[in-house]
Amino acid sequence: MTLTNRIQAVQEQVRQAALQAGRDPGEITLCAATKVQTDDTIRQAIAAGIRVCGENRVQELTAHLEQMAYAGAQEVHFIGHLQTNKVKFVVGKVDLIQSVDSQRLLLAIDQQAEKLGLRQDILLEVNIGREESKGGCLPDELPALAELAASLDHVRLRGLMAIPPVSTGCGANRPYFSAMRQLYVDIQTKMSDNQGSIDHLSMGMSADFADAIAEGATLIRVGTALFGPRPPMKRP
Ligand SMILES: *Cc1c(COP(=O)(O)O)cnc(C)c1O
Repeated sequence: MTLTNRIQAVQEQVRQAALQAGRDPGEITLCAATKVQTDDTIRQAIAAGIRVCGENRVQELTAHLEQMAYAGAQEVHFIGHLQTNKVKFVVGKVDLIQSVDSQRLLLAIDQQAEKLGLRQDILLEVNIGREESKGGCLPDELPALAELAASLDHVRLRGLMAIPPVSTGCGANRPYFSAMRQLYVDIQTKMSDNQGSIDHLSMGMSADFADAIAEGATLIRVGTALFGPRPPMKRP
């Protein structure tokens, strides 16, 4: 299958999953996880209909930006672990930082956005599987983080993101997705002042995006199903 075929196949699967869940397919945004892909592959993906690209590593983001690899995409997101000292390479360069998981990172993003005179859209990442190896705040830490985010002038809280445990397929992750949806609804309710802007629930990857859509995902992050298998990931 060509890249174009795979993109079309995923788009169709997203549409079917939405319809099956009684949802409008237009509510769901496909974010292509472009880690390890070349500038050319990213350009081809955009030409074939990808509208949102998600980058994991600061170095790759910077290199692709320099080469204008995302030209023609509507949005670029940062979806990987972000170190406080690298915030300046990301704030103002991407439309959404999906992976904010600590007070320290929130404050650093706010400070950099203030310096640039802009407001940075962010999601709070939740470690919904409570895995040692994963980023994300614990579910019990979320209310305080959300409150802090809402209080900052140069950050705009847009919702939540999660990377649940590696899926064994067959709906194994549905309880995590369902728990995320509950947290999302709670935050929307609590922040009803700026409810209009809390509109993203980012969850679901190649192996389980249909289940995530059934549980209310508005943003799915898909790599392998679009681009084929990657060499094994090292943690940055
Ligand atoms: C790589 C990655 C994805 C996509 O994973 P696939 O299983 O290849 O679809 C989604 N989210 C994040 C944060 C990633 O790093």
